[in-house]
Parts: sequence; structure tokens; C-alpha cells
Amino acid sequence: MKHSLPDLPYNYNDLEPYIDARTMEIHHTKHHQTYVNNLNTVLEKYSQMADRKLEELMEDIDKLPFDGADKTAFRNNGGGHLNHSFFWRIMGKDKEVDKKLVEEISVKFGSVDEFKKALTQTAITRFGSGWAWLARNKQGQLELYSTANQDSPFLQGHIPVIGLDVWEHAYYLKYQNRRNEYAENWWHVLKILP
Ligand code: MN
Repeated sequence: MKHSLPDLPYNYNDLEPYIDARTMEIHHTKHHQTYVNNLNTVLEKYSQMADRKLEELMEDIDKLPFDGADKTAFRNNGGGHLNHSFFWRIMGKDKEVDKKLVEEISVKFGSVDEFKKALTQTAITRFGSGWAWLARNKQGQLELYSTANQDSPFLQGHIPVIGLDVWEHAYYLKYQNRRNEYAENWWHVLKILP
């Protein structure tokens, strides 16, 4: 089974003015496509993994028989594919608030606004390229953290709930070096929180 680039559930210009259309198009058709292509190239060598879910392979990465650099290639490109596929789905032109999640976040972080501040801070302080996450751990609890590169929460058996891409390719055309401004504006296009 070959992995393929998913369609976006909206148009490239639908997240304007917070994320510009050109950034969305390059991010989707170039960056994400490259992760998909490289992931397929690695997995072609391992027919025993062909029918397994990518999320499960990621969690089992240390038990899988990857040769040499293939493990890192799988971690980076499989993570890139999982992370971006998820990222596109939680954004949108219109809000579709997850009320249950709002309640859960309010209990854990005090309020949605406090949570947004905390995740924004996590995103801003991630050194270099990576992601800021709200993820659900194996005990079902929410955890806030960042990962480097394209490391996926599934590496630890966590399920992503919210993820913010802070690679420069996600914001450089519009925001240049101003990651903080991008991270603060991003909440407008995250559809699952008010
Ligand atoms: Mn990206």
C-alpha cells in the first residue's frame, strides 16, 4: 500500500490572512509531498510493513528491522506524513468547536486562553524546527510538549489532539522570522477551539 498526499479539506486561500495561500500551496504540494515520496521509498524495502498502519509502525519503531539510515528516514518522513495529514485537518475557514475538548482543557489548564498561552509559549521556545503538541497519553490524559524535527507523538504511543507546525516553511513567506506572530495568529484557523 503506497501512501499518498491527502487533499486539503479547503482551498489554499481559505486560511488568509493568517496563513497565506502561497505558503499553504508550497507546504502541501512540495513539503508534504516530499515526506510522502520519501516514506514510500523506505517502505518499499520492507514488504512486511506494507499493510500495517503508519501510527502503529511509528510506535513500534524500535522493534522494526530497519537497516542503517532507514530507521531515521522512516522516523522523519513517516512523522512528516502523519503530522501534516493531522495539521491540515484541524484547521479550517470556519470554527467547528469541540465542546468536550474545551471542557477538558479548561479543567487542566484553567481556561482555553491559558492553554493557548501555554502552547504558544511551547511553540515559540522550541529551538530550531519542530512541533508544539497537545497530545493524549496512554492513560488518556492530555500532555503539552514540543518535539524536534518531524518527531510524531505516536513515537510514544500518544494521540495528537492539537499540533502546531513551527518549521520556518510553515510561516516564513508571510512572517519571516516572527514565529511568535505566526503562533499567535494560528489560533484563528485552528477550528476545534473557540
Ligand atoms: Mn510543515
